[in-house]
Amino acid sequence: MKIIVKERYKEELNIDVINKVLAYLNLNESFEIQYMRGDGRNLVIETDSHKYYIIVSRETADARNAFLAQYISTVLSQYVEDLTTKQKKLSIFLLDTSDRAKTDFIIDTYRVAKTLGINILNESELGLSSIQPYNSFKDWKNARNNRQQYNPANQSSYAMEDEDEYTIFGKLYGANGKESAFLACQLAEIAKKENKKLNFVQVKEHGTEIISSSDKKLLEYYGVNISEGSIVLKDKQIRDRSTCRKQDEFKFNLLEKYGNKKCYLCGCDIESNIIASHIHRITDIDNSNIPDEEKRRQAVDGDNGLWLCANHDKMFENGIITFNKNGELVINPTLKANQVAFIKYITQILKIQDIHLTSEFLQYLMIHNKRVKLGL
Ligand SMILES: [Zn+2]
Repeated sequence: MKIIVKERYKEELNIDVINKVLAYLNLNESFEIQYMRGDGRNLVIETDSHKYYIIVSRETADARNAFLAQYISTVLSQYVEDLTTKQKKLSIFLLDTSDRAKTDFIIDTYRVAKTLGINILNESELGLSSIQPYNSFKDWKNARNNRQQYNPANQSSYAMEDEDEYTIFGKLYGANGKESAFLACQLAEIAKKENKKLNFVQVKEHGTEIISSSDKKLLEYYGVNISEGSIVLKDKQIRDRSTCRKQDEFKFNLLEKYGNKKCYLCGCDIESNIIASHIHRITDIDNSNIPDEEKRRQAVDGDNGLWLCANHDKMFENGIITFNKNGELVINPTLKANQVAFIKYITQILKIQDIHLTSEFLQYLMIHNKRVKLGL
């Protein structure tokens, strides 16, 4: 039996660790260890009939993604590219199974791994009842939203659902890139089952990162559609130079400003029904007499939009409802009493929150109000 360890992890993936892993696998043949160059925090254990890839977590579960999540995509790449005729198996072995390795964040990592068919060799040591894979996009998204101390700005990625596709906006910098790739593989597996596509939009935090070639190949293997352009963040501002699809960039900016897809006015969060609604319409921007660069900026500006459900989107676009300069909801006075009553019935939020009511938002709103002639 042969065991391969990467030189750079020689100290951490030592003989004690190897023996523990072999015990879990019920392997007691003699073995030789080969040290190899390259990346991958894992053991490859090769018997006559099997090839086990074992991703080994860090000794102490501390940082957000440094414990395990950032190591998975690299090993997963090597695993899927290995064309051995032996039976392959990919697992995780946890060096730390204390309470630190049981935070909501880390449990999510286990669940994402399980969804990809990666089991956890010593899961029983965690003392949790069996860890379940995610069954659907909604299942995963709900878990993410319910997670303690959920902070969207702290995430390595945003993911959202549109009518026939999912989009993941994956940050590429450092460990975030590895974590985004891992998550994208999982969402691609889920999307396949649901007959949807998964788009991956690259988000550059420092403007220079590119997705690693091994992660790119991995995403392609899982059938992910990698968008050609990218979103470039700098001091939280989107740069004009980006080549990303306009609509993707607009949606990304709405996610940054308002959070998850959810109708601003009624709270409906059935994502496939939620529209990235412009205040100053694209067609009017295109027809306006301003430089192209400014047109582009307005078309993707998060202040020029709201998440609205299909019903509220149409009502806003058609001037049935709008907001005044204080951000208060205004219902078109030409409507009949029963129609006004209906709108009030389906509308819970009657005012734009002050933090969202920026001067840019108001400028777009004034253009909109002029167009729909509500005289506000
Ligand atoms: Zn709504």
